[in-house]
Amino acid sequence: MKRYAVTEFGRPLCTLVEDDPVPRGTEVVVALERCGVCHTDLHLREGHYDLGGGKRLSLAERGVSPPLTLGHEILGRIAAAGPEAGEVGAGRRVLVYPWIGCGSCHRCRDGEENLCAAGRCLGVHRPGGFAEQVVVPHPRYLIDVEGLDPSAAAPLACSGLTAYSALRKVGGDPARDWLLLVGAGGLGQSALALARALGHARVAVADTAPDKRARAAALGADLVLDPADPAARDALLRLESGLSAAIDFVGTAGTAGFALDALRRGGRFVVVGMFGGEIALSLPLLPLRALTLAGSYVGNLGELRDLVALVRAHGLTLVETETVPLARAEDAMRRLAGGTVAGRIVLAHGGQPAHGG
Ligand SMILES: [Zn+2]
Ligand SMILES: [Zn+2]
Repeated sequence: MKRYAVTEFGRPLCTLVEDDPVPRGTEVVVALERCGVCHTDLHLREGHYDLGGGKRLSLAERGVSPPLTLGHEILGRIAAAGPEAGEVGAGRRVLVYPWIGCGSCHRCRDGEENLCAAGRCLGVHRPGGFAEQVVVPHPRYLIDVEGLDPSAAAPLACSGLTAYSALRKVGGDPARDWLLLVGAGGLGQSALALARALGHARVAVADTAPDKRARAAALGADLVLDPADPAARDALLRLESGLSAAIDFVGTAGTAGFALDALRRGGRFVVVGMFGGEIALSLPLLPLRALTLAGSYVGNLGELRDLVALVRAHGLTLVETETVPLARAEDAMRRLAGGTVAGRIVLAHGGQPAHGG
């Protein structure tokens, strides 16, 4: 089998040829059909995250080192299983939950493996989906996606799950309360579609880019705002019953300040984006306004199962995809880094890649 791996941080992916994996214990081997290419893959290839202000989060210091097979939006068919994996249904098409934890800490046992301090995530700590075959440590991480479009389903494991998990944290009454989504890129658009499916009847979307605002309006946002326009904050403050919750998919001082200023008393602010920056918070205003601040990082296995069921029930397409052959992984990474990709690039292996729209 072939894998396309980072063998040195900051360098192009290398093609490695090796023997097919033989599953041991509870392991399952998935023959890759699709793998989405995510911005996180770019950070992993560079070997660091930019925290802003010249600060960097080094991956080498966090136990991530080459060779590194990227790719955490993995979809394929079950090819082989270890002797302790049980009946896994060979040939079944599955989406893989990649945010795997140690399996034994309290977080993992509570079903919050994405919050484990000793994570063993696919495409980060373990080999991921930029490969013809992927070893998954246990069949419980496999979710049936038979009948769904494979290119559209693969990104559910990261971008879809991130939007969904953030929405699950806003609370309130979705039929009555106003929700603000800041950032109308891929995540914001996914969140808008999911918010509707979850029954959110009043959704505002804010973005500084005119084309993204136009897209949000076309997708049916109830209120579309430019956060750089001073009138935008007033429009939110005038909402009947106020703004109940905001999700920030950008994560700058500007976007966070805009959302926090507009929240009503008892409001919730959920940060997802990691563009970078800092905000000054008046501590007395936290109790006086009874605000709740939260961060949301990908999502847990139960949420991914719920998300797949929701997408299936409503026939949702969360993000536009463009499907390219797996062997062109390096080219896809370069295009994503260049900022010229409108939706999600999904790598395909086996059969004829379909061009999703
Ligand atoms: Zn991702
Ligand atoms: Zn753990």
